[in-house]
Amino acid sequence: MIRVQSVAPDSLGAELGLTPGTELLAVNGRALEDFLDWEFLTADDRFVLAARMATGQTVEFDIERPEGLAMGVTLEPPRIRRCGNHCDFCFVDGNPEGLRSPLYIRDDDYRLSFRYGNFATLTNLKPWDAARIVEYRLSPLYVSVHATDLTVRRWLLRNPDAPDIITQLRWFGERGIAFHAQVVLVPGVNDGPVLERTLGDLYGLGAAVVSVSVVPVALTEFSKRGLVREPTASECRAALATVDRMATRALAERRGGPWCYGADDLYLQAGEPLPAAEWYGDFEQRENGVGAVRFLQSRIAAAADRLPDLAGKRIGVVTGRAMGPLMPQVLADVASTTGGRFELIVVENTLFGSSVTTAGLLPGAAVERALAGRKDLDVVLLPAEAVNDDLVFVDDVRAEDLAARLPAPAYLSYDFADALGELGTRNAERGTDSSASRSAFPLPRSAFGVGQG
Ligand code: SF4
Repeated sequence: MIRVQSVAPDSLGAELGLTPGTELLAVNGRALEDFLDWEFLTADDRFVLAARMATGQTVEFDIERPEGLAMGVTLEPPRIRRCGNHCDFCFVDGNPEGLRSPLYIRDDDYRLSFRYGNFATLTNLKPWDAARIVEYRLSPLYVSVHATDLTVRRWLLRNPDAPDIITQLRWFGERGIAFHAQVVLVPGVNDGPVLERTLGDLYGLGAAVVSVSVVPVALTEFSKRGLVREPTASECRAALATVDRMATRALAERRGGPWCYGADDLYLQAGEPLPAAEWYGDFEQRENGVGAVRFLQSRIAAAADRLPDLAGKRIGVVTGRAMGPLMPQVLADVASTTGGRFELIVVENTLFGSSVTTAGLLPGAAVERALAGRKDLDVVLLPAEAVNDDLVFVDDVRAEDLAARLPAPAYLSYDFADALGELGTRNAERGTDSSASRSAFPLPRSAFGVGQG
């Protein structure tokens, strides 16, 4: 059974009398377990829906959907599948105390993998789940492989019951399900020959594995640092060399691209330049920090003719330490297009510790401190990936409250083009007055670029 959270007006759901709290029981006699059942079983134009209405009465609707009329039903959020592994490097376990409770949930949920691109390990799949993945063609899925050697993988996941990932991926591949894989690189455990073998094994699965990323392990101040450490620069260089060998092979054998990618962080930590944007193809793992910088540059280049004239304006750009060394190239592109003066404001993460460098985990309090007294700025761009869907930073600071306290108007931005385009529109509307209203904040987050851990 799944429960209705809301119903859009003028929708089929509203016409049927579904209301918040209505229990959706079955479609065509099949019991509904979650949003996947709902979406897939109601995709046809004709179906029979059994529901328990607010009155307690159970009703069967024989539905023939008029063309173009949506069900308009939003479901209550699904119960997240919890993770049964205990990785030493688990970022959730590395959270400081006192954060809001959802941040302590270790999810390992193939449904979220399909829907949002979250990585799952597939260690908690039941036969029923596997059948469902095939029946609903949940493809591609995002899978944390880490190592294909079963002993090493079980060690990394701290799960002696983890199944053999190659057997699993092959089984799904034979049934038309494809995967994007990631290897979180833990020095001394799954680098060197283990990484070679992992990439080779995955490559051998053919079309079932669409891409593989190698991501250096990221730890917080609160992680189990006695058990796991971050890779050194030379270990990152060695891993990149392995990635490059595999990519060279994939290109030579025409796999449709390099197939194997190093995360931006791997290049950064290795002290090596990032590949060009073309290397990343469709940027399929950019949410995983693979090609994120080049993606940003591509977006800016594509939006060049939409960017406003910002001559004489000072724009502060807030980011985390990870992007600090890479952003000057990006800002140079925007500055030359707009004529604005861009200042990079690199903020250290005071909540998770200085080893956490991603902009997506910046606490609002640290941003506020970094911008204190900066009345010289005409506008400030804040990383949109640092707030959740409710526009709240990881430390529970609401974006709107933060904006009200900042000395300059602020915008949430993924790629400059979103916020600066908005700013340009406002400037045009106000003639020569280019100071954005404080009430303009926060700019609604655009639909792309929602980050993940
Ligand atoms: S890192 Fe992922 S798989 Fe490992 S314990 Fe944490 S949530 Fe589970």
